[in-house]
Amino acid sequence: MQGMMMHRPLLISEILTYAAQAHPTGEIVSARTEGDIHRQTYPETAARVAQLAHGLGKLGIKIGDRIATMAWNTHRHFEIYYGVSGIGAITHTINPRLSPEQLIYIVNHAADTVLFLDTTFVPLLEAVRAHLPADMRYIIMTDRAHMPENTLDALCYEELLAGEDTHFEWPEFDENTAAALCYTSGTTGDPKGSLYSHRSTVLHALMVVLVQADVFSQGVKVLPVVPMFHVNAWGLPYIAPLTGMTMVMPGPALDGPSLFKLMDEEKVFSAWGVPTIWMGLLAEIDAQGRPPEGFGDIVVGGSAAPRVMIETLENMGVNVGHAWGMTEMSPIGTHGNMPPFVADLPFKDRIDIKSKQGRRVFGVDLKIVDEDGVRQPHDGKSIGEIYVRGNAIISGYYKNDAATKTAIDAEGWFGTGDIASIDEQGFLSIQDRSKDLVKSGGEWISSIDLENAAMSHGDIAMAAVIGIAHPKWDERPILVAVPAGDARPSLAEIHAHIAEHFAKWQMPDDVIWVDALPMTATGKVSKMNLRKQMADYVLPDLRT
Ligand code: ADP
Repeated sequence: MQGMMMHRPLLISEILTYAAQAHPTGEIVSARTEGDIHRQTYPETAARVAQLAHGLGKLGIKIGDRIATMAWNTHRHFEIYYGVSGIGAITHTINPRLSPEQLIYIVNHAADTVLFLDTTFVPLLEAVRAHLPADMRYIIMTDRAHMPENTLDALCYEELLAGEDTHFEWPEFDENTAAALCYTSGTTGDPKGSLYSHRSTVLHALMVVLVQADVFSQGVKVLPVVPMFHVNAWGLPYIAPLTGMTMVMPGPALDGPSLFKLMDEEKVFSAWGVPTIWMGLLAEIDAQGRPPEGFGDIVVGGSAAPRVMIETLENMGVNVGHAWGMTEMSPIGTHGNMPPFVADLPFKDRIDIKSKQGRRVFGVDLKIVDEDGVRQPHDGKSIGEIYVRGNAIISGYYKNDAATKTAIDAEGWFGTGDIASIDEQGFLSIQDRSKDLVKSGGEWISSIDLENAAMSHGDIAMAAVIGIAHPKWDERPILVAVPAGDARPSLAEIHAHIAEHFAKWQMPDDVIWVDALPMTATGKVSKMNLRKQMADYVLPDLRT
């Protein structure tokens, strides 16, 4: 027997309509590329999104068209998310830090027809334009007064909206219709597309609202430092309007001093982003001798939050939520909100738990399997690859059957490529990406654990561990480190510092000091490039 309930499609347009009606004082505050701070409420935003939808209609955009963006986090980028998806077209967010080859590949692979860009990216697009679809239309996201000289025959964003009706009758269509497209940064091979649907996007937002309910409420200010071109800023542009939170958009300036100033002036409570960004902010906090006013909560993810970072933030009264996920998961798989007992734990034990990658959100099933595909218990000790299943997880890659076949197992789960354990309390502990684990003497060494331990040494600002081939041991770990100041501790000193946590055979065989580590387009250490840089490196015991 079936239930007797209405069935309403879960559509993205409904999120903004809801925000405008239920949270009319919630705002989008933007540090614009024009250099000023811009503010508009959700009702004002909804009116501009309606104007954009009319403008897109006049350009002939229809359901299913791919509309690219190359843009920072601003109110205009937010408007494009809703205007494009609202009419049934697909927002394809492009990471501007991709290499020109990758950029050309994904725009052609997606067959985008319109590309919205911030003024900043005009030179970049002019340089590759000859390799992009010839009939592509470019729209620069500014007003007439700030339109830069360009050879893109570009339209002006504000002119597209000007004079249009501020009401739009949002169409109803199947909730499984594609809404947004995001390519992985392609650390191996060509980038692969995750094609989100309206249903998956709305459910993902609800799933996250659920676990953050104690933080999220109307008017609370949230800062997505995580870019809207990287997995939809972890879903915040859909999550925030549901809760009425005010979004503070940082625009292009993501350095420590700029973030500090914006957070301080706007009294941002919760800030979301990858660990490398917080290193810049923490340096500025150190320089100013105080955190930005109102700062009380941070969500860290995208790569492992170093333990020392969690300690520093918690010590200044900022609640750290350590989350894990990936592009293919919309992206949030776990969240770092703590069950009540954690508050009563001694500081060290609390940091131990917060250093783990949190517990799963509702709607994301997790399983761990060993190399033979056998499911492992959630006992905190058994380790294996983590597989996921849920309504906001890809069922395959966009127009890429070969990649889909290797990613999805026989039971329909998606293989993340991450190696992890899960404890009895449900906490996930990511050991490594499978390709980054160091294999020594038939045993695995977690590069994340070693990096964490190394970075707790006051003289080390950043650290990366990679395995170097060894004829006897298979691989041996080495530590590549960026010094915090002038001191360069010896290998023996580093060993002494981390000895408590590691067996002798797990310790790095060498330390190499560098000025900077190579980074990926999503702000993570690029181990692939680091391995390339170290191609000629010879381990100490193999030197003749
Ligand atoms: P890309 O794969 O394009 O670099 P993603 O953001 O999709 O970008 O990367 C997802 C991967 O990042 C995960 O599979 C995992 O290896 C890593 N990751 C994400 N969050 C964490 C975390 N909290 N701790 C450790 N690794 C993480």
